[in-house]
Amino acid sequence: MALIVQKYGGSSVADAESIKRVAKRIVDTRRAGHDVVVAVSAMGDTTDELLDLANEVAPIPAPRELDMLLSSGERISMALLAMAIHSMGFEARSFTGSQAGMITDSQHGAARIVDVTPVRLREALDEGAIVIVAGFQGFNRDTRDITTLGRGGSDTTAVALAAALDADVCEIYSDVDGIFTADPRVIPKAQKLDHITSEEMLELAANGAKVLYIRAVEYARRHGVLIHARSTFSSSEGTYVLGEGMKNPRESEGADMEEPIVAGVATDFSQAKITVAGVPDVPGKAAEIFKIVAKSGANVDMIVQNVSATGRTDISFTVPKADAAAALKALAGEQTEVGFQNLIHDDQIGKLSVVGAGMRTHSGVSATLFEALSAGGINIEMISTSEIRISVVLRDADLAEAARTVHTAYGLDGDAEATVHAGTGR
Ligand code: ASP
Ligand code: MG
Repeated sequence: MALIVQKYGGSSVADAESIKRVAKRIVDTRRAGHDVVVAVSAMGDTTDELLDLANEVAPIPAPRELDMLLSSGERISMALLAMAIHSMGFEARSFTGSQAGMITDSQHGAARIVDVTPVRLREALDEGAIVIVAGFQGFNRDTRDITTLGRGGSDTTAVALAAALDADVCEIYSDVDGIFTADPRVIPKAQKLDHITSEEMLELAANGAKVLYIRAVEYARRHGVLIHARSTFSSSEGTYVLGEGMKNPRESEGADMEEPIVAGVATDFSQAKITVAGVPDVPGKAAEIFKIVAKSGANVDMIVQNVSATGRTDISFTVPKADAAAALKALAGEQTEVGFQNLIHDDQIGKLSVVGAGMRTHSGVSATLFEALSAGGINIEMISTSEIRISVVLRDADLAEAARTVHTAYGLDGDAEATVHAGTGR
């Protein structure tokens, strides 16, 4: 008998029918003899609808009240799910985040989990009940208020529960079959991975892959939680996300398979490029520029500085499109102080990233990327690397084609087209 934590995203519990389908899945796991703890998201687009409502009554909703409102979405789905399980003849109990002992800091809308005290969950499990926990929410001890963990926070709830209860596995259910070598909507020949390391998953997630949330993967990595990302809409196994030293549960003993060098290709259309042109090439200018950008709240990703021929240089960087206006405004306000000549804003860019732990030990990985792009006649505008990732910025119109070419070049194409269930990927 194992203790299994399961997380169901909003698309898996979008209506009464889906809730019953999920209930059946949970009951099947229980029937197989396992203890089950479930973290559930709000039904379908509930969170977005609640946010819209909040914005209709107040331009800037009070953060405490917004958390009260948003946390109600998960309360609906958890109770309905417990009812559905009940009517199938199984004991189920739902708990809010605070009842479940999800203790967070006091940051409304982006709270971090600081402790998990699942006393009531343990009791319920000991009494043979299936436990349902509202995802995405917690409680702060100092303010005694309800908090939420930020969009997509139910993944983190599930992983934190799995860590606190020492679960055997944390299954994260969504409407995609697992983690793919690329987004199947962009690259139809993307293949489902059997497993991936958590460090590769973090790089993919940070560079545009949307299947799992970064914070959940980080939490799992820190606490040694095994994640199994799989689909609510099929019974086939998904992808295991393995932390350091973890063994792939599917691999037979002693089988030391050669790992592929590249695990996946990520595409990101969400960035914009800002170029600060004609910056005086003297010490301290980059510090000034990025201090201004940081103060505007923009989150900088790639940075490139050109060589200077005339005592001046251009510095280009990328930020999320949504942050670009604030960064530009802040920079424009300090133009004379910094002494640059002008600002160029470009939101027609796309970022392509190739991720693989094998890059540490294999040479020629970047050459393959650049050759593939060159053969496709695709121009590269920026390059950045980490130990296990190479990213390039391209024209956004070129990104999909570039990603397909690169996917093929690394031998990642599958034989069949990936099944894409209509949905959000959550
Ligand atoms: N319901 C929340 C959201 O939509 C949390 C989650 O789905 O994980 O962001
Ligand atoms: Mg949701």
